[in-house]
Amino acid sequence: MNAARSEQEFQNILRRLGIALDASQIGVWEHDTQKDEVVWDLQMHRLYATGKTKKRVKAEVWMNAIHPEDFAQAQADFDRAILTKDVYSSEYRIILPDGETRYLRSRAYCFEEDGHITFIGAEWDVTADVLLNRELRRQKAIAEARAVALEATTERIEYAAEHDYLTGLPNRRFFDRRLAELAGEPGLEKLAILHIGLDRFKQINDTAGHAAGDDVLKSCARRIEAGVPKNSFIARVSGDEFAVLIANFTALDDLKHRAEQLAQQLKQSVWHNDDVLRTGASMGVAAASGRNIASLLAESDIALQRAKKLGRGRVEVFSAHLKAQLNNEQRVGRQLAHGLEKGEFIPYYQAQVDARTRRIVGMEVLARWRHPKRGMILPGEFITVAGSLGRLDDLDAAILKAALKDRQAWMRQGVQVPRIAVNVSAARLSDPLLMDQLKHLDIQPDMLSFELLETIFLDDSEDEVFSNVAGLKAMGIDIEIDDFGSGHASIIGLVKLKPRRMKIDRQLVMPTTTSREQTRLLRSIIDIAKALHIEVIAEGVETLEHAKLLTRLGCDILQGYAIAYPVPADDMLARLMQDQEQSLVAQS
Ligand code: C2E
Ligand code: CA
Ligand code: CA
Repeated sequence: MNAARSEQEFQNILRRLGIALDASQIGVWEHDTQKDEVVWDLQMHRLYATGKTKKRVKAEVWMNAIHPEDFAQAQADFDRAILTKDVYSSEYRIILPDGETRYLRSRAYCFEEDGHITFIGAEWDVTADVLLNRELRRQKAIAEARAVALEATTERIEYAAEHDYLTGLPNRRFFDRRLAELAGEPGLEKLAILHIGLDRFKQINDTAGHAAGDDVLKSCARRIEAGVPKNSFIARVSGDEFAVLIANFTALDDLKHRAEQLAQQLKQSVWHNDDVLRTGASMGVAAASGRNIASLLAESDIALQRAKKLGRGRVEVFSAHLKAQLNNEQRVGRQLAHGLEKGEFIPYYQAQVDARTRRIVGMEVLARWRHPKRGMILPGEFITVAGSLGRLDDLDAAILKAALKDRQAWMRQGVQVPRIAVNVSAARLSDPLLMDQLKHLDIQPDMLSFELLETIFLDDSEDEVFSNVAGLKAMGIDIEIDDFGSGHASIIGLVKLKPRRMKIDRQLVMPTTTSREQTRLLRSIIDIAKALHIEVIAEGVETLEHAKLLTRLGCDILQGYAIAYPVPADDMLARLMQDQEQSLVAQS
Protein backbone atom coordinates (compact mmCIF):
# COMPACT_ATOMS: atom_id res chain seq x y z
CA MET A 1 0.00 0.00 0.00
CA ASN A 2 2.77 2.40 1.03
CA ALA A 3 4.87 1.34 -1.90
CA ALA A 4 1.91 1.93 -4.22
CA ARG A 5 1.37 5.40 -2.82
CA SER A 6 4.96 6.40 -3.20
CA GLU A 7 4.96 5.07 -6.74
CA GLN A 8 1.91 7.29 -7.36
CA GLU A 9 3.63 10.29 -5.75
CA PHE A 10 6.74 9.70 -7.83
CA GLN A 11 4.66 9.67 -11.01
CA ASN A 12 3.06 12.98 -9.96
CA ILE A 13 6.39 14.63 -9.36
CA LEU A 14 7.65 13.37 -12.70
CA ARG A 15 4.56 14.71 -14.49
CA ARG A 16 4.87 18.12 -12.82
CA LEU A 17 8.57 18.29 -13.66
CA GLY A 18 7.76 17.43 -17.28
CA ILE A 19 5.20 20.23 -17.47
CA ALA A 20 7.54 22.72 -15.79
CA LEU A 21 10.39 21.83 -18.18
CA ASP A 22 8.05 22.08 -21.11
CA ALA A 23 6.81 25.47 -19.95
CA SER A 24 10.35 26.76 -19.37
CA GLN A 25 11.47 25.52 -22.80
CA ILE A 26 14.62 24.18 -21.22
CA GLY A 27 16.11 21.20 -22.95
CA VAL A 28 17.65 18.36 -20.97
CA TRP A 29 20.53 16.30 -22.11
CA GLU A 30 22.82 13.60 -20.92
CA HIS A 31 26.28 12.77 -22.23
CA ASP A 32 28.18 9.59 -21.39
CA THR A 33 31.75 10.59 -22.21
CA GLN A 34 33.12 7.08 -22.27
CA LYS A 35 30.64 5.77 -24.76
CA ASP A 36 30.25 9.16 -26.34
CA GLU A 37 26.53 8.59 -26.09
CA VAL A 38 24.21 11.57 -26.07
CA VAL A 39 20.57 11.56 -25.06
CA TRP A 40 18.31 14.53 -25.84
CA ASP A 41 14.78 15.24 -24.78
CA LEU A 42 12.18 16.68 -27.10
CA GLN A 43 12.95 20.29 -26.15
CA MET A 44 16.60 19.77 -27.08
CA HIS A 45 15.49 18.74 -30.55
CA ARG A 46 13.30 21.84 -30.69
CA LEU A 47 16.20 24.09 -29.63
CA TYR A 48 18.39 22.67 -32.37
CA ALA A 49 15.43 22.42 -34.79
CA THR A 50 16.50 18.93 -35.81
CA GLY A 51 12.96 18.03 -36.76
CA LYS A 52 13.57 14.68 -35.02
CA THR A 53 12.42 13.17 -31.75
CA LYS A 54 14.79 10.26 -31.26
CA LYS A 55 16.29 10.23 -27.80
CA ARG A 56 19.68 8.95 -28.74
CA VAL A 57 21.67 11.35 -30.91
CA LYS A 58 25.21 11.35 -32.17
CA ALA A 59 27.63 13.75 -30.49
CA GLU A 60 28.35 15.19 -33.98
CA VAL A 61 24.82 16.56 -34.16
CA TRP A 62 25.71 18.93 -31.36
CA MET A 63 29.23 19.67 -32.61
CA ASN A 64 28.11 20.32 -36.16
CA ALA A 65 25.45 22.76 -35.04
CA ILE A 66 27.86 25.01 -33.16
CA HIS A 67 28.87 28.25 -34.87
CA PRO A 68 32.42 27.78 -36.21
CA GLU A 69 33.61 30.88 -34.36
CA ASP A 70 32.39 29.53 -31.02
CA PHE A 71 33.38 25.92 -31.54
CA ALA A 72 36.83 25.99 -29.99
CA GLN A 73 35.58 27.70 -26.86
CA ALA A 74 32.60 25.35 -26.48
CA GLN A 75 34.86 22.32 -26.88
CA ALA A 76 37.36 23.73 -24.41
CA ASP A 77 34.65 24.38 -21.82
CA PHE A 78 33.48 20.77 -22.08
CA ASP A 79 37.02 19.33 -21.98
CA ARG A 80 37.76 21.35 -18.86
CA ALA A 81 34.62 20.03 -17.17
CA ILE A 82 35.65 16.45 -17.97
CA LEU A 83 39.15 17.08 -16.66
CA THR A 84 38.04 18.71 -13.43
CA LYS A 85 34.89 16.56 -13.16
CA ASP A 86 33.15 19.70 -12.14
CA VAL A 87 30.22 21.83 -13.25
CA TYR A 88 30.05 22.39 -16.96
CA SER A 89 28.98 25.84 -18.06
CA SER A 90 29.18 27.34 -21.49
CA GLU A 91 27.52 29.73 -23.90
CA TYR A 92 27.68 29.56 -27.69
CA ARG A 93 25.88 30.19 -30.88
CA ILE A 94 24.40 27.45 -33.00
CA ILE A 95 23.36 27.68 -36.60
CA LEU A 96 19.92 26.24 -37.29
CA PRO A 97 19.25 24.30 -40.50
CA ASP A 98 17.48 27.34 -41.92
CA GLY A 99 20.62 29.43 -41.34
CA GLU A 100 19.29 31.39 -38.36
CA THR A 101 21.64 31.95 -35.42
CA ARG A 102 20.54 31.11 -31.89
CA TYR A 103 22.38 31.80 -28.62
CA LEU A 104 22.31 28.96 -26.11
CA ARG A 105 23.47 28.64 -22.54
CA SER A 106 24.33 25.18 -21.22
CA ARG A 107 24.97 23.96 -17.70
CA ALA A 108 25.53 20.46 -16.45
CA TYR A 109 26.68 18.44 -13.46
CA CYS A 110 29.19 15.67 -13.70
CA PHE A 111 28.45 12.19 -12.32
CA GLU A 112 30.97 9.41 -12.01
CA GLU A 113 29.58 5.87 -11.82
CA ASP A 114 31.59 2.68 -12.42
CA GLY A 115 34.40 4.71 -13.95
CA HIS A 116 31.93 6.31 -16.37
CA ILE A 117 31.85 10.09 -16.49
CA THR A 118 28.44 11.32 -17.40
CA PHE A 119 27.10 14.85 -17.63
CA ILE A 120 23.46 15.63 -17.10
CA GLY A 121 22.57 19.15 -18.03
CA ALA A 122 20.10 21.67 -19.22
CA GLU A 123 20.25 24.02 -22.17
CA TRP A 124 18.13 27.06 -22.98
CA ASP A 125 17.74 29.84 -25.51
CA VAL A 126 19.30 33.18 -24.44
CA THR A 127 19.12 34.87 -27.86
CA ALA A 128 16.72 37.55 -26.62
CA ASP A 129 18.93 38.31 -23.58
CA VAL A 130 22.10 38.46 -25.65
CA LEU A 131 20.53 40.73 -28.26
CA LEU A 132 19.07 42.95 -25.54
CA ASN A 133 22.44 43.15 -23.79
CA ARG A 134 24.14 43.94 -27.04
CA GLU A 135 21.62 46.70 -27.78
CA LEU A 136 22.10 48.09 -24.27
CA ARG A 137 25.86 48.11 -24.76
CA ARG A 138 25.45 49.83 -28.11
CA GLN A 139 23.18 52.49 -26.57
CA LYS A 140 25.62 52.97 -23.75
CA ALA A 141 28.49 53.43 -26.19
CA ILE A 142 26.44 55.99 -28.17
CA ALA A 143 25.56 57.84 -24.97
CA GLU A 144 29.20 57.86 -23.93
CA ALA A 145 30.34 59.10 -27.34
CA ARG A 146 27.73 61.85 -27.13
CA ALA A 147 28.96 62.86 -23.71
CA VAL A 148 32.52 63.05 -25.02
CA ALA A 149 31.39 65.13 -28.02
CA LEU A 150 29.40 67.43 -25.76
CA GLU A 151 32.39 67.92 -23.52
CA ALA A 152 34.54 68.75 -26.54
CA THR A 153 31.94 71.24 -27.78
CA THR A 154 31.69 72.85 -24.38
CA GLU A 155 35.45 73.10 -24.28
CA ARG A 156 35.46 74.64 -27.74
CA ILE A 157 32.82 77.19 -26.78
CA GLU A 158 34.68 78.06 -23.62
CA TYR A 159 37.90 78.39 -25.58
CA ALA A 160 36.24 80.65 -28.17
CA ALA A 161 34.76 82.81 -25.44
CA GLU A 162 38.20 83.50 -24.07
CA HIS A 163 40.36 83.62 -27.17
CA ASP A 164 40.77 85.85 -30.16
CA TYR A 165 39.92 83.80 -33.24
CA LEU A 166 42.36 85.70 -35.45
CA THR A 167 45.62 85.45 -33.51
CA GLY A 168 44.64 82.56 -31.25
CA LEU A 169 45.72 84.63 -28.26
CA PRO A 170 43.64 85.03 -25.08
CA ASN A 171 41.16 87.88 -25.35
CA ARG A 172 40.33 90.73 -22.99
CA ARG A 173 37.97 88.60 -20.94
CA PHE A 174 40.63 85.95 -20.33
CA PHE A 175 43.16 88.68 -19.61
CA ASP A 176 40.94 90.22 -16.92
CA ARG A 177 40.39 86.82 -15.35
CA ARG A 178 44.11 86.01 -15.36
CA LEU A 179 44.94 89.38 -13.85
CA ALA A 180 42.40 88.82 -11.06
CA GLU A 181 43.81 85.33 -10.45
CA LEU A 182 47.34 86.67 -10.24
CA ALA A 183 46.24 89.25 -7.69
CA GLY A 184 45.43 86.40 -5.32
CA GLU A 185 48.49 84.27 -6.03
CA PRO A 186 50.73 83.98 -2.96
CA GLY A 187 53.98 83.40 -4.89
CA LEU A 188 53.64 86.64 -6.86
CA GLU A 189 56.19 89.23 -5.84
CA LYS A 190 55.85 91.70 -8.67
CA LEU A 191 53.93 91.99 -11.87
CA ALA A 192 54.30 94.17 -14.94
CA ILE A 193 51.94 94.90 -17.79
CA LEU A 194 53.33 95.72 -21.17
CA HIS A 195 50.58 97.47 -23.11
CA ILE A 196 51.19 97.50 -26.86
CA GLY A 197 49.28 99.72 -29.28
CA LEU A 198 49.86 99.33 -33.00
CA ASP A 199 50.62 102.55 -34.87
CA ARG A 200 48.83 103.36 -38.11
CA PHE A 201 46.70 100.21 -37.88
CA LYS A 202 43.49 101.96 -38.87
CA GLN A 203 45.29 103.43 -41.85
CA ILE A 204 46.40 99.98 -43.04
CA ASN A 205 42.86 98.64 -42.65
CA ASP A 206 41.44 101.60 -44.55
CA THR A 207 43.93 101.68 -47.38
CA ALA A 208 45.14 98.07 -47.84
CA GLY A 209 41.95 96.32 -46.70
CA HIS A 210 40.89 94.13 -43.80
CA ALA A 211 42.73 91.03 -44.99
CA ALA A 212 45.95 93.05 -44.87
CA GLY A 213 45.01 94.30 -41.40
CA ASP A 214 44.48 90.70 -40.31
CA ASP A 215 47.91 89.71 -41.57
CA VAL A 216 49.49 92.58 -39.68
CA LEU A 217 47.75 91.53 -36.46
CA LYS A 218 48.77 87.91 -36.84
CA SER A 219 52.34 88.74 -37.61
CA CYS A 220 52.53 91.19 -34.70
CA ALA A 221 51.08 88.55 -32.36
CA ARG A 222 53.86 86.13 -33.36
CA ARG A 223 56.55 88.80 -32.94
CA ILE A 224 55.26 89.68 -29.51
CA GLU A 225 55.30 86.00 -28.52
CA ALA A 226 58.89 85.75 -29.63
CA GLY A 227 59.88 89.01 -27.95
CA VAL A 228 58.61 88.63 -24.39
CA PRO A 229 59.83 86.32 -21.57
CA LYS A 230 58.73 82.69 -22.00
CA ASN A 231 56.18 82.48 -19.18
CA SER A 232 54.41 85.73 -20.08
CA PHE A 233 50.67 85.83 -20.62
CA ILE A 234 49.85 87.59 -23.90
CA ALA A 235 46.39 88.79 -24.84
CA ARG A 236 44.82 90.80 -27.62
CA VAL A 237 42.79 93.25 -25.58
CA SER A 238 41.22 95.32 -28.35
CA GLY A 239 41.29 95.84 -32.10
CA ASP A 240 44.83 97.14 -32.28
CA GLU A 241 46.10 96.59 -28.73
CA PHE A 242 47.89 93.75 -27.01
CA ALA A 243 48.69 93.40 -23.33
CA VAL A 244 51.36 91.19 -21.79
CA LEU A 245 51.48 90.09 -18.16
CA ILE A 246 55.02 89.49 -16.95
CA ALA A 247 55.33 88.04 -13.47
CA ASN A 248 58.39 88.26 -11.21
CA PHE A 249 60.60 90.03 -13.75
CA THR A 250 64.15 90.92 -12.75
CA ALA A 251 64.30 94.69 -13.17
CA LEU A 252 62.12 97.39 -14.64
CA ASP A 253 65.02 98.78 -16.70
CA ASP A 254 65.53 95.36 -18.16
CA LEU A 255 61.88 95.15 -19.06
CA LYS A 256 61.94 98.53 -20.73
CA HIS A 257 64.99 97.49 -22.72
CA ARG A 258 63.21 94.34 -23.89
CA ALA A 259 60.14 96.38 -24.82
CA GLU A 260 62.30 98.69 -26.89
CA GLN A 261 63.80 95.73 -28.70
CA LEU A 262 60.31 94.41 -29.35
CA ALA A 263 59.29 97.82 -30.69
CA GLN A 264 62.15 97.49 -33.18
CA GLN A 265 60.89 94.05 -34.19
CA LEU A 266 57.38 95.36 -34.70
CA LYS A 267 58.73 98.05 -37.00
CA GLN A 268 59.83 95.42 -39.52
CA SER A 269 57.51 95.45 -42.47
CA VAL A 270 54.84 92.81 -43.00
CA TRP A 271 54.20 91.15 -46.33
CA HIS A 272 50.64 90.77 -47.48
CA ASN A 273 50.42 89.10 -50.91
CA ASP A 274 52.73 91.35 -52.93
CA ASP A 275 52.16 94.34 -50.73
CA VAL A 276 54.63 95.47 -48.12
CA LEU A 277 52.94 97.00 -45.08
CA ARG A 278 54.67 99.27 -42.64
CA THR A 279 53.50 99.34 -39.08
CA GLY A 280 54.99 99.73 -35.64
CA ALA A 281 53.93 99.97 -32.05
CA SER A 282 53.91 102.29 -29.07
CA MET A 283 54.15 100.75 -25.64
CA GLY A 284 53.31 101.55 -22.07
CA VAL A 285 54.83 99.69 -19.13
CA ALA A 286 53.48 99.64 -15.59
CA ALA A 287 54.74 97.52 -12.73
CA ALA A 288 53.58 96.84 -9.19
CA SER A 289 54.52 94.59 -6.35
CA GLY A 290 52.39 92.12 -4.47
CA ARG A 291 48.78 93.03 -4.06
CA ASN A 292 48.84 96.48 -5.64
CA ILE A 293 48.03 95.29 -9.10
CA ALA A 294 44.40 96.38 -9.36
CA SER A 295 45.15 99.65 -11.14
CA LEU A 296 47.99 98.21 -13.20
CA LEU A 297 46.08 97.97 -16.47
CA ALA A 298 44.86 101.56 -16.22
CA GLU A 299 48.42 102.68 -15.47
CA SER A 300 49.92 100.82 -18.40
CA ASP A 301 47.24 102.40 -20.56
CA ILE A 302 48.19 105.86 -19.33
CA ALA A 303 51.82 105.13 -20.18
CA LEU A 304 50.76 103.87 -23.61
CA GLN A 305 48.70 106.99 -24.33
CA ARG A 306 51.69 109.10 -23.33
CA ALA A 307 53.99 107.08 -25.60
CA LYS A 308 51.60 107.60 -28.49
CA LYS A 309 51.40 111.31 -27.80
CA LEU A 310 55.16 111.70 -27.71
CA GLY A 311 55.55 110.04 -31.09
CA ARG A 312 55.23 106.61 -32.56
CA GLY A 313 57.34 103.59 -31.74
CA ARG A 314 58.14 104.75 -28.21
CA VAL A 315 58.14 102.92 -24.89
CA GLU A 316 56.99 104.87 -21.82
CA VAL A 317 57.04 103.66 -18.23
CA PHE A 318 54.26 104.69 -15.89
CA SER A 319 55.39 106.85 -12.98
CA ALA A 320 53.94 108.99 -10.25
CA HIS A 321 55.15 112.01 -12.19
CA LEU A 322 53.26 110.92 -15.29
CA LYS A 323 50.17 110.44 -13.22
CA ALA A 324 50.54 113.90 -11.70
CA GLN A 325 50.90 115.37 -15.17
CA LEU A 326 47.77 113.60 -16.29
CA ASN A 327 45.88 114.66 -13.19
CA ASN A 328 46.91 118.20 -13.91
CA GLU A 329 45.62 117.97 -17.45
CA GLN A 330 42.39 116.56 -16.16
CA ARG A 331 42.10 119.31 -13.57
CA VAL A 332 42.73 121.95 -16.22
CA GLY A 333 40.10 120.19 -18.31
CA ARG A 334 37.49 120.44 -15.56
CA GLN A 335 38.35 124.07 -14.92
CA LEU A 336 38.20 124.78 -18.63
CA ALA A 337 34.66 123.44 -18.90
CA HIS A 338 33.71 125.56 -15.92
CA GLY A 339 35.51 128.60 -17.34
CA LEU A 340 33.62 128.30 -20.61
CA GLU A 341 30.35 128.40 -18.73
CA LYS A 342 31.46 131.38 -16.64
CA GLY A 343 32.70 133.38 -19.62
CA GLU A 344 36.32 133.37 -18.43
CA PHE A 345 37.65 133.22 -21.98
CA ILE A 346 38.08 136.64 -23.51
CA PRO A 347 39.45 137.98 -26.77
CA TYR A 348 42.76 139.87 -27.05
CA TYR A 349 43.51 141.73 -30.26
CA GLN A 350 46.70 142.02 -32.24
CA ALA A 351 46.73 144.74 -34.87
CA GLN A 352 47.77 144.04 -38.47
CA VAL A 353 49.02 146.90 -40.65
CA ASP A 354 49.31 147.57 -44.35
CA ALA A 355 52.96 146.93 -45.22
CA ARG A 356 53.32 150.25 -47.09
CA THR A 357 51.05 152.73 -45.30
CA ARG A 358 51.44 151.09 -41.85
CA ARG A 359 47.79 151.83 -41.17
CA ILE A 360 45.71 149.24 -39.32
CA VAL A 361 43.86 147.10 -41.81
CA GLY A 362 42.87 144.24 -39.58
CA MET A 363 43.39 142.47 -36.31
CA GLU A 364 43.74 138.90 -35.14
CA VAL A 365 41.63 137.77 -32.23
CA LEU A 366 43.59 135.65 -29.74
CA ALA A 367 41.94 133.83 -26.88
CA ARG A 368 42.98 134.47 -23.28
CA TRP A 369 41.81 132.69 -20.17
CA ARG A 370 41.14 135.08 -17.31
CA HIS A 371 41.51 132.47 -14.60
CA PRO A 372 40.01 133.54 -11.25
CA LYS A 373 43.04 132.24 -9.32
CA ARG A 374 45.90 132.05 -11.77
CA GLY A 375 45.37 135.27 -13.68
CA MET A 376 45.75 135.52 -17.45
CA ILE A 377 46.60 132.23 -19.16
CA LEU A 378 47.95 131.96 -22.73
CA PRO A 379 46.53 129.56 -25.35
CA GLY A 380 49.63 127.33 -25.20
CA GLU A 381 48.27 126.00 -21.91
CA PHE A 382 44.67 125.39 -22.83
CA ILE A 383 44.23 124.90 -26.59
CA THR A 384 45.48 121.29 -26.55
CA VAL A 385 43.45 120.44 -23.48
CA ALA A 386 40.34 122.00 -25.02
CA GLY A 387 41.07 120.01 -28.18
CA SER A 388 41.43 116.69 -26.39
CA LEU A 389 38.22 117.41 -24.45
CA GLY A 390 36.40 118.19 -27.68
CA ARG A 391 35.61 121.73 -26.48
CA LEU A 392 37.71 123.72 -28.95
CA ASP A 393 34.71 124.45 -31.15
CA ASP A 394 32.86 125.89 -28.13
CA LEU A 395 35.88 128.02 -27.32
CA ASP A 396 36.06 129.35 -30.88
CA ALA A 397 32.35 130.14 -30.84
CA ALA A 398 32.63 131.97 -27.50
CA ILE A 399 35.61 134.05 -28.70
CA LEU A 400 33.86 134.98 -31.95
CA LYS A 401 30.75 136.07 -30.10
CA ALA A 402 32.75 138.18 -27.66
CA ALA A 403 34.76 139.76 -30.49
CA LEU A 404 31.59 140.70 -32.37
CA LYS A 405 30.29 142.29 -29.18
CA ASP A 406 33.50 144.31 -28.75
CA ARG A 407 33.28 145.37 -32.37
CA GLN A 408 29.82 146.73 -31.85
CA ALA A 409 30.86 148.63 -28.75
CA TRP A 410 33.75 150.20 -30.68
CA MET A 411 31.47 151.25 -33.50
CA ARG A 412 29.19 152.92 -31.00
CA GLN A 413 32.26 155.01 -30.03
CA GLY A 414 32.37 156.18 -33.62
CA VAL A 415 35.34 154.14 -34.66
CA GLN A 416 35.64 152.47 -38.04
CA VAL A 417 36.57 148.88 -37.23
CA PRO A 418 38.73 147.06 -39.76
CA ARG A 419 38.47 143.35 -40.56
CA ILE A 420 38.62 140.98 -37.61
CA ALA A 421 40.33 137.59 -38.00
CA VAL A 422 39.42 134.70 -35.72
CA ASN A 423 41.13 131.33 -35.38
CA VAL A 424 39.01 128.38 -36.35
CA SER A 425 39.74 124.82 -35.30
CA ALA A 426 39.22 121.73 -37.43
CA ALA A 427 36.45 120.62 -35.09
CA ARG A 428 34.53 123.81 -35.70
CA LEU A 429 35.11 123.84 -39.42
CA SER A 430 33.73 120.32 -39.81
CA ASP A 431 30.71 121.04 -37.61
CA PRO A 432 27.56 120.63 -39.74
CA LEU A 433 25.81 123.20 -37.54
CA LEU A 434 28.44 125.92 -38.15
CA MET A 435 26.54 127.78 -40.85
CA ASP A 436 23.34 127.76 -38.81
CA GLN A 437 25.13 129.19 -35.79
CA LEU A 438 26.76 131.94 -37.86
CA LYS A 439 23.44 132.97 -39.37
CA HIS A 440 22.24 133.95 -35.92
CA LEU A 441 25.09 136.41 -35.55
CA ASP A 442 25.06 139.80 -37.21
CA ILE A 443 27.82 139.22 -39.74
CA GLN A 444 28.25 141.63 -42.65
CA PRO A 445 30.40 140.86 -45.72
CA ASP A 446 34.10 141.77 -45.46
CA MET A 447 34.12 142.38 -41.73
CA LEU A 448 35.38 138.92 -40.73
CA SER A 449 37.96 136.37 -41.73
CA PHE A 450 38.55 132.85 -40.53
CA GLU A 451 42.11 131.68 -40.01
CA LEU A 452 42.38 128.00 -40.77
CA LEU A 453 45.43 125.89 -40.15
CA GLU A 454 46.95 124.35 -43.24
CA THR A 455 46.77 120.91 -41.64
CA ILE A 456 42.98 120.99 -41.47
CA PHE A 457 42.83 120.42 -45.20
CA LEU A 458 45.25 117.58 -45.18
CA ASP A 459 43.62 115.67 -42.35
CA ASP A 460 39.96 116.44 -42.83
CA SER A 461 39.45 116.99 -46.49
CA GLU A 462 35.93 115.72 -46.03
CA ASP A 463 32.91 117.12 -47.79
CA GLU A 464 31.64 118.85 -44.66
CA VAL A 465 34.75 121.02 -44.50
CA PHE A 466 34.56 122.07 -48.12
CA SER A 467 30.85 122.72 -47.96
CA ASN A 468 31.34 124.89 -44.88
CA VAL A 469 34.18 126.76 -46.59
CA ALA A 470 31.89 127.45 -49.55
CA GLY A 471 29.18 128.64 -47.14
CA LEU A 472 31.61 130.99 -45.37
CA LYS A 473 32.70 132.52 -48.64
CA ALA A 474 29.07 133.01 -49.64
CA MET A 475 28.48 134.89 -46.37
CA GLY A 476 31.34 137.24 -47.23
CA ILE A 477 33.70 135.76 -44.65
CA ASP A 478 37.31 135.67 -45.90
CA ILE A 479 39.30 132.48 -45.63
CA GLU A 480 42.93 132.79 -44.56
CA ILE A 481 45.46 130.01 -44.33
CA ASP A 482 47.32 130.25 -41.03
CA ASP A 483 50.91 129.23 -40.34
CA PHE A 484 51.65 128.64 -44.02
CA GLY A 485 54.91 126.74 -44.40
CA SER A 486 54.94 125.35 -40.86
CA GLY A 487 53.59 121.95 -41.65
CA HIS A 488 53.52 120.19 -44.94
CA ALA A 489 53.78 122.77 -47.68
CA SER A 490 50.61 122.38 -49.64
CA ILE A 491 50.33 124.34 -52.79
CA ILE A 492 47.63 121.92 -53.90
CA GLY A 493 45.70 122.90 -50.77
CA LEU A 494 45.98 126.54 -51.80
CA VAL A 495 44.66 125.84 -55.28
CA LYS A 496 41.81 123.77 -53.94
CA LEU A 497 40.81 126.16 -51.18
CA LYS A 498 41.38 129.50 -52.96
CA PRO A 499 41.82 131.48 -49.73
CA ARG A 500 41.71 135.27 -49.69
CA ARG A 501 44.99 135.46 -47.75
CA MET A 502 47.80 133.36 -46.43
CA LYS A 503 49.75 134.01 -43.25
CA ILE A 504 53.38 133.05 -43.57
CA ASP A 505 54.52 131.26 -40.44
CA ARG A 506 56.87 132.90 -37.95
CA GLN A 507 59.42 130.12 -38.46
CA LEU A 508 59.81 131.17 -42.10
CA VAL A 509 59.76 134.90 -41.41
CA MET A 510 62.28 134.94 -38.56
CA PRO A 511 65.46 133.87 -40.43
CA THR A 512 64.91 136.11 -43.46
CA THR A 513 67.13 138.88 -42.17
CA THR A 514 70.08 136.53 -41.73
CA SER A 515 69.75 133.85 -44.37
CA ARG A 516 69.70 134.63 -48.09
CA GLU A 517 68.40 131.17 -48.86
CA GLN A 518 65.40 131.75 -46.57
CA THR A 519 64.83 135.09 -48.26
CA ARG A 520 64.72 133.39 -51.64
CA LEU A 521 62.30 130.76 -50.30
CA LEU A 522 60.04 133.48 -48.94
CA ARG A 523 60.17 135.35 -52.23
CA SER A 524 59.09 132.20 -54.10
CA ILE A 525 56.17 131.64 -51.74
CA ILE A 526 55.08 135.24 -52.19
CA ASP A 527 55.36 134.89 -55.98
CA ILE A 528 53.15 131.79 -55.93
CA ALA A 529 50.59 133.57 -53.75
CA LYS A 530 50.55 136.55 -56.11
CA ALA A 531 50.05 134.24 -59.09
CA LEU A 532 47.05 132.76 -57.33
CA HIS A 533 45.77 136.24 -56.33
CA ILE A 534 46.24 135.47 -52.66
CA GLU A 535 47.22 138.31 -50.31
CA VAL A 536 50.20 137.69 -48.04
CA ILE A 537 50.39 138.43 -44.32
CA ALA A 538 53.76 138.05 -42.59
CA GLU A 539 53.46 136.80 -39.01
CA GLY A 540 55.97 137.28 -36.21
CA VAL A 541 57.42 140.53 -37.51
CA GLU A 542 59.60 141.26 -34.51
CA THR A 543 61.90 144.02 -35.74
CA LEU A 544 61.73 147.04 -38.02
CA GLU A 545 64.36 145.37 -40.13
CA HIS A 546 61.98 142.49 -40.72
CA ALA A 547 59.17 144.90 -41.50
CA LYS A 548 61.27 146.65 -44.15
CA LEU A 549 62.54 143.48 -45.77
CA LEU A 550 59.13 141.81 -45.87
CA THR A 551 57.59 144.90 -47.42
CA ARG A 552 60.29 144.85 -50.08
CA LEU A 553 59.64 141.14 -50.76
CA GLY A 554 56.02 141.98 -51.49
CA CYS A 555 54.12 141.12 -48.31
CA ASP A 556 50.83 142.99 -48.15
CA ILE A 557 50.20 142.97 -44.43
CA LEU A 558 52.43 142.78 -41.36
CA GLN A 559 51.68 141.38 -37.93
CA GLY A 560 54.05 140.95 -35.00
CA TYR A 561 55.54 142.45 -31.86
CA ALA A 562 57.28 145.12 -33.94
CA ILE A 563 53.84 146.39 -34.95
CA ALA A 564 51.72 145.65 -31.89
CA TYR A 565 51.38 143.18 -29.03
CA PRO A 566 48.10 141.37 -28.44
CA VAL A 567 46.08 143.65 -26.15
CA PRO A 568 42.70 143.65 -24.40
CA ALA A 569 39.64 145.26 -26.03
CA ASP A 570 40.01 148.68 -24.37
CA ASP A 571 43.61 149.05 -25.49
CA MET A 572 42.66 147.98 -28.98
CA LEU A 573 39.97 150.66 -29.06
CA ALA A 574 42.50 153.28 -28.01
CA ARG A 575 44.89 152.10 -30.72
CA LEU A 576 42.14 152.24 -33.35
CA MET A 577 41.22 155.79 -32.32
CA GLN A 578 44.81 156.88 -32.43
CA ASP A 579 45.26 155.30 -35.86
CA GLN A 580 42.22 157.11 -37.19
CA GLU A 581 43.33 160.45 -35.81
CA GLN A 582 46.74 160.06 -37.42
CA SER A 583 45.20 159.30 -40.77
CA LEU A 584 42.94 162.33 -40.47
CA VAL A 585 45.99 164.45 -39.71
CA ALA A 586 47.78 162.94 -42.67
CA GLN A 587 44.89 163.69 -44.93
CA SER A 588 44.45 167.30 -43.82
P1 C2E B 1 48.55 131.76 -34.09
O1 C2E B 1 47.22 131.72 -34.74
O2 C2E B 1 49.72 131.50 -34.96
O3 C2E B 1 48.62 133.13 -33.35
C1 C2E B 1 49.74 133.89 -33.30
C2 C2E B 1 50.50 133.69 -32.05
O4 C2E B 1 51.78 134.30 -32.19
C3 C2E B 1 49.85 134.34 -30.85
O5 C2E B 1 50.16 133.57 -29.69
C4 C2E B 1 50.59 135.67 -30.75
O6 C2E B 1 50.60 136.22 -29.46
C5 C2E B 1 51.98 135.27 -31.17
N1 C2E B 1 52.75 136.39 -31.76
C6 C2E B 1 52.27 137.50 -32.38
N2 C2E B 1 53.27 138.27 -32.82
C7 C2E B 1 54.43 137.63 -32.50
C8 C2E B 1 55.81 137.93 -32.71
O7 C2E B 1 56.19 138.98 -33.27
N3 C2E B 1 56.70 137.02 -32.23
C9 C2E B 1 56.31 135.91 -31.59
N4 C2E B 1 57.25 135.08 -31.16
N5 C2E B 1 55.01 135.59 -31.39
C10 C2E B 1 54.08 136.45 -31.84
P2 C2E B 1 49.06 133.12 -28.72
O8 C2E B 1 48.09 134.22 -28.48
O9 C2E B 1 49.75 132.54 -27.56
O10 C2E B 1 48.31 132.02 -29.53
C11 C2E B 1 48.91 130.83 -29.79
C12 C2E B 1 48.09 129.98 -30.72
O11 C2E B 1 46.87 129.59 -30.08
C13 C2E B 1 47.61 130.72 -31.94
O12 C2E B 1 48.59 130.70 -32.87
C14 C2E B 1 46.42 129.90 -32.37
O13 C2E B 1 46.82 128.79 -33.13
C15 C2E B 1 45.88 129.44 -31.06
N6 C2E B 1 44.73 130.24 -30.69
C16 C2E B 1 44.70 131.45 -30.06
N7 C2E B 1 43.42 131.85 -29.90
C17 C2E B 1 42.62 130.88 -30.44
C18 C2E B 1 41.21 130.74 -30.61
O14 C2E B 1 40.39 131.55 -30.23
N8 C2E B 1 40.78 129.59 -31.21
C19 C2E B 1 41.65 128.66 -31.67
N9 C2E B 1 41.16 127.60 -32.26
N10 C2E B 1 42.97 128.77 -31.55
C20 C2E B 1 43.46 129.88 -30.94
CA1 CA C 1 46.16 132.56 -36.16
CA1 CA D 1 49.69 131.94 -37.09
